[in-house]
Amino acid sequence: MTKRVVLIGHPVAHSLSGAMQQAAFDARGIDAAYELWDRPPIALPDAIAEVRGDDYLGANVTIPHKERVVPLMDRLTEEAHATGAVNTITREGRRLVGHNTDVAGFSAGLDKLVGRAKMPRQAVVLGAGGGARAVVYGLIREGFTRIVVFNRHLHRAEGLVKHFGRSAAHMELRAMPWHPSIIESELAKARILVNATSIGLATDDSPIPAEVLTPDLLVLDLIYKRTRLLRDAVAAGATANDGETMLLHQGAAAFTLWTGQAAPLDVMAEALAAARAGGLRSAEGEPAGDEAVAPAGDEAAAAAAG
Ligand code: NDP
Repeated sequence: MTKRVVLIGHPVAHSLSGAMQQAAFDARGIDAAYELWDRPPIALPDAIAEVRGDDYLGANVTIPHKERVVPLMDRLTEEAHATGAVNTITREGRRLVGHNTDVAGFSAGLDKLVGRAKMPRQAVVLGAGGGARAVVYGLIREGFTRIVVFNRHLHRAEGLVKHFGRSAAHMELRAMPWHPSIIESELAKARILVNATSIGLATDDSPIPAEVLTPDLLVLDLIYKRTRLLRDAVAAGATANDGETMLLHQGAAAFTLWTGQAAPLDVMAEALAAARAGGLRSAEGEPAGDEAVAPAGDEAAAAAAG
């Protein structure tokens, strides 16, 4: 019987996980199909109930359900418990276990961004959703001593800070109001900037003005495309990566949880690159590739090499 793995989100059409996971199942000879389920919040409990069935290996969970799905789990791993967010589900019989592989994915993305330089200790995080929780937890675990979280709705950033109260007791974790001048003054004190908002996903907007970006910043956008923020960062002389490494490594960790096998990283990276190249289309329906949103030149290429 073909096993099933589903991605539950709303929307899910932009997701590249299907191509990546299906290529991995096929490469390892695993008889499984990866399906995209677009489910609004009201339909989430029914979708989760269905995943308890024998034909499921498990599931991925994405926008906007990562936090909402937590109380529907029977058990949480340490990362899922610490972040209060679940992006991967496995089955133990009819019981469901909630994992958060975004944490491992983010750590891989951070390591790649920093490269051989000394790991910085101060960061600014934009956003306070499920992705931001994985980022903040990853930064705390990495030993950061100061993290400032900006969010459009301040109360959500405050909720995040409160959530991490105990694990952040030894360091400074603060929520601040979303205002360009405050962001600018905090960026002057930080080396790492992470965009964990969805600004730039559907439109070509940046969460912050280009003028506040400085050459010594290391910028990571969780969005897996060459966003305006990344282009602005490279134009300012900063180092910038997109969310591809995070996506790849959270997916690889999920694959191993569902199958018990090592993930074929090269195959998954290739499938991701192919899906991404084919995913952006011009209004005429011609494949436009990344050049549709990026300026020409090596700098833009560097920004996309996440
Ligand atoms: P959530 O829906 O949980 O959070 C969305 C965040 O974006 C919130 O902080 C929200 O602010 C903010 N936001 C959305 N629209 C606006 C706007 N117009 N102005 C200001 N703020 C806005 O999503 P996730 O945390 O799950 O995902 C966030 C992004 O990270 C997505 O683009 C997602 O694709 C990406 N991501 C990538 C991963 C990867 O593997 N590369 C993994 C996880 C996420 P508010 O609370 O005020 O509404």
